[in-house]
Amino acid sequence: MFNVNSFSISRLPKIEFGPGTINKLPSIIKTYGNRLLIVTGDKSFIQSESWADLEKNLSSSDIEYTLCHVITEPSPTLIDKLVQDYRLSAVDAVVAIGGGSALDAGKAIAGLLKTSYSVMDFLEGVGPELVYEGPVVPFIAVPTTAGTGSEATKNAVLSEQSFNGYKKSFRDEKLVPAVAIVDPDLLKSCPESLIAANGMDALTQLMESYVSTHSNEMTDALAISGIKAIKASLLAWYDGDNSDTNRSKMAYASLLSGINLAQTGLGSVHGLASPLGAFFPIPHGMVCGTLLAEAADINITAMKQREPDNPALFKYAELGRLLSDNISLNDEAAHQSLIFVLRQLVEQMDLPYLKEYGIRVEHLEHIVGHSRGSSMKTNPIVLTDDEIRQLVFRRIKRQAND
Ligand code: NAD
Repeated sequence: MFNVNSFSISRLPKIEFGPGTINKLPSIIKTYGNRLLIVTGDKSFIQSESWADLEKNLSSSDIEYTLCHVITEPSPTLIDKLVQDYRLSAVDAVVAIGGGSALDAGKAIAGLLKTSYSVMDFLEGVGPELVYEGPVVPFIAVPTTAGTGSEATKNAVLSEQSFNGYKKSFRDEKLVPAVAIVDPDLLKSCPESLIAANGMDALTQLMESYVSTHSNEMTDALAISGIKAIKASLLAWYDGDNSDTNRSKMAYASLLSGINLAQTGLGSVHGLASPLGAFFPIPHGMVCGTLLAEAADINITAMKQREPDNPALFKYAELGRLLSDNISLNDEAAHQSLIFVLRQLVEQMDLPYLKEYGIRVEHLEHIVGHSRGSSMKTNPIVLTDDEIRQLVFRRIKRQAND
C-alpha cells in the first residue's frame, strides 16, 4: 500500500527557471547591494551574446563587478588564492556563471570571503574538518552546463589532482546558493562531449538518488520527473537538435538532480568518481557516464544474491520499464532492459573507456581503496571490494567486457 514515511528536505535556493531568466540577474543582485564578484569559466560565457547583454544591464543598473576565471576543476589552493585576492574587497554578492567548476569555486569563495579560514579547515576527510559557521556572502549560481546541479547543492567539490591526490567536498547547508538562475539559453554553446558527460552526470545523480538508502517519496517523484526529461531530450540534443525544448528539459533534469543529491546522497558511481577524478585527469561527467550502466548491473546482481527484498530492486525495475517504454515487463526483464538501454546510451554518446585517461588494471587496488567516501555510504547495498573492482575493471577497456 502507498505510504509516505517521515522525511526532511534541507534548504533550497530561490529558483528562477526558464529561457531569458538571466535578465533578472541585475534586479536580484540589487537586493544585496551593487558590488559584485563574478566567477566564470574559461571563455565560453564571456564570448557569448548573453554576456554582452548582461554587461550592458549591469552597467545601466550601476552594478560594479570584478571578474575572475576558473579554468579547471577547482583545487583548494586555487580557492584559498582567490579568497586571499578578494578578501579585502567590498563584495555584496558573489555570482558564479559557468559549469560545475565555476559554480563550485564561487560557492566556496562566497563561503570563505568574510572569514579568516582556509578551505582546508573544512574539507571532508582532509585536515581538521572544523564546523563551518559562516558567514556566507550571498551567492547566486547560474549554470551553463546541464549539468552538475551544483546550483542547488550544499557542497563545493575541490580536487588536488595527482596519483595520491583527493577530490573532496566543502559542505554545509549555509553554502546552498541564495538564488539559482537556470536559463536554458546559456546551454546553446555546449559541444557534443559536454552534452554527453553532463547529461550522464545528471542521469547518474537522479538514478543514484532514486535508489539511495536516504531516498523518500518527494525525492523519488523528482527523480522520476528528471529521468523522464532526460529520456525525452538527451540523445536528441546530443545528436544535434539544439532546440529550446531539449535544452530546457536537460536544464530542468540537472536542477532536479542537484536538489535530490543534496537530500539523499549518491551511490557507487560517485563513490568512484572521487578517486578516479582525483588520481587521473578525467572530467567528472565522463566518469559518471562510463560507469553508470555497469554500476546498475553490479548493484542489481549483488541485491539479487544477498538482499532479494531490498526495495531498490523494485526501483531499478521501475526504471527499466520507464526507460524501455514497456510497462508490461516483469521485474527480471525490466532489470535486463535497464542495463541494455544504459549500455546503449553509453555507446551512442561514445563515452570513453577509462584507459583513455591512463587508468590501468594495476591501478585498481589504489582506486578501490579510496572509494568508500560519503557517496558510497548511500549506495542501496554495501558492495564488496571485489564488486567495486569488477565495476571499474569492466570499463577500463573494451576487451574487458568481451
Ligand atoms: P566544467 O565546469 O569543468 O566545464 C568544462 C568545460 O566546459 C570548461 O572548459 C568550461 O569553460 C566549458 N563550458 C561550460 N559551459 C559551457 C557552455 N555553455 N558552452 C561551451 N563550453 C562551456 O564542467 P562541469 O561538468 O559542468 O563541472 C564539473 C565539476 O562539477 C567537477 O569538479 C565536479 O566534481 C563538480 N560537481 C559538483 C557538484 C556539486 O554538487 N557541487 C555536483 C556534480 C559535479
